[in-house]
Amino acid sequence: MPLNEYRKKRDFKVTPEPSGHGATSTSKSKALRYVIQKHRATQLHYDFRLEWNGVMLSWAVPKGPSLDPKVKRMAVQVEDHPIGYSDFEGIIPGGEYGGGTVMIWDTGGWTPEVADVGAALKKGDLKFTLHGKKLQGSWVLVRTRGFGKNPSKPSWLLIKHKDEYATTADITAEQPRSAISKRKLADIARDAGGDVERAATGDSK
Ligand code: MN
Repeated sequence: MPLNEYRKKRDFKVTPEPSGHGATSTSKSKALRYVIQKHRATQLHYDFRLEWNGVMLSWAVPKGPSLDPKVKRMAVQVEDHPIGYSDFEGIIPGGEYGGGTVMIWDTGGWTPEVADVGAALKKGDLKFTLHGKKLQGSWVLVRTRGFGKNPSKPSWLLIKHKDEYATTADITAEQPRSAISKRKLADIARDAGGDVERAATGDSK
């Protein structure tokens, strides 16, 4: 039951997030979904998610992705999310788990660069290509040793490989808006009746 931990943390009578019950929104094209959700919760972070085996594998990336292959971004693996979560942009009510504003910062598909994704995840070295609106080209997630001792939240590093999409440009600063609605966090909070001032503190980062 891969979504048990996800469901245990949330009260679906209160939060508009999907429960993941019922039909999954797997795309007809069989393409594996990829999404990054910018999340102004207690701390601003970017939730990096890859569809695999009927769920979205999920990592919280405090600083967001970098297109510079020299920069390694810490990515803390968190509970699997429903595939339908990839379409969620809005607010999680205050007091609920992850309370705050959620933006679909990037969306698209991904392709494994390894023959056996399960083995790569177990080994802690997953190479893949992103086909997003903002992020493209070759990337790797590498599990680290030594820190992230909490076994339920392993630490990984998200790193851009050298290719034609690598650059030192600061993508999170240069492209702060939603990939689907073009809204900033403050706009999303305003439209959903959330905390606009708090959301706005994530728009300049
Ligand atoms: Mn989050």
